[in-house]
Amino acid sequence: AKCRPGESFTEGKIVPYGDISISPCCPILNYGQGLFEGLKAYRTEDDRILIFRPHENALRMQDGAERLCMSSPSVEFFVEAVKQTVLANKKWVPPPGKGALYIRPLLIGSGAILGVAPAPEYTFLIYASPVGDYHKASSGLNLKVDHKSHRAHSGGTGGVKSCTNYSPVVKSLVEAKSSGFSDVLFLDAATGRNIEEASACNIFIVKGNIVSTPPTSGTILPGITRKSVSELARDIGYQVQERDVSVDELLEADEVFCTGTAVVVKAVETVTFHDKKVKYRTGEEALSKKLHSMLTSIQTGLVEDTKGWMVDIDPC
Ligand code: PMP
Repeated sequence: AKCRPGESFTEGKIVPYGDISISPCCPILNYGQGLFEGLKAYRTEDDRILIFRPHENALRMQDGAERLCMSSPSVEFFVEAVKQTVLANKKWVPPPGKGALYIRPLLIGSGAILGVAPAPEYTFLIYASPVGDYHKASSGLNLKVDHKSHRAHSGGTGGVKSCTNYSPVVKSLVEAKSSGFSDVLFLDAATGRNIEEASACNIFIVKGNIVSTPPTSGTILPGITRKSVSELARDIGYQVQERDVSVDELLEADEVFCTGTAVVVKAVETVTFHDKKVKYRTGEEALSKKLHSMLTSIQTGLVEDTKGWMVDIDPC
């Protein structure tokens, strides 16, 4: 779908997957004016297809559009477009327990313009692909704390899902992976002492009955899984705190886990900071295991969705 500034997206169409044509002087190519989202659709045992919290992705895209001076789809348009995309790709939604259909909405500055300015036109598109587990590591992630580079700066775009947030991360990720780590954990740029998030997921630490996660004050992405998992942890009696978490506290934690659309809820097995490597609780007794099971039971329709999180693409 396309629209001009000040107009709204009103119609779109389903086309076979393929290349798109774009002007060489469009703002997404030259200035990175673009946002994306990521969400999943799951097949249930009784063959329904459920999408996890698409309204939240729509709202997050709107926040990002406001930050990047772009026009964005209305919540209704976004959710309907996601539903139609899943409906058209129904056969690609894996069987229950075998993964999910990952859905990628993109909002980009298109049209042609030479200088730095809001785009003369916006393009909203969605593609989808079946996916399995994001990280191969079965027992847990091995994170490397990056003490050299940062992914976001105060006042920047770290709090929205801007395409440009990801390019500075690739170098750290490649280096970490080549040394055998599963992901990189970034520290805040302001003090270099507090943990922020990994390349594409949020982080939690557990100490006793207290679960803590860094605040969404503009330099980390307000994850939808983060928000959902915080609610589930509170439901089972944990105290959940959104606050600055220092790297020292991280190294002292009983348990650490990551959340995100791709990883869902994943235990962290080790964290390495400079020469120090710490091992955490994982496996059956870990809180992350319980939260993973609670969340995926809702997502795959195994338990009743009392929270109203799931959208059935074809309710009848
Ligand atoms: N942080 C970053 C940088 C991400 O890319 C993602 C994935 N969208 C997340 C956190 C987790 O967000 P969500 O739970 O909404 O997928």
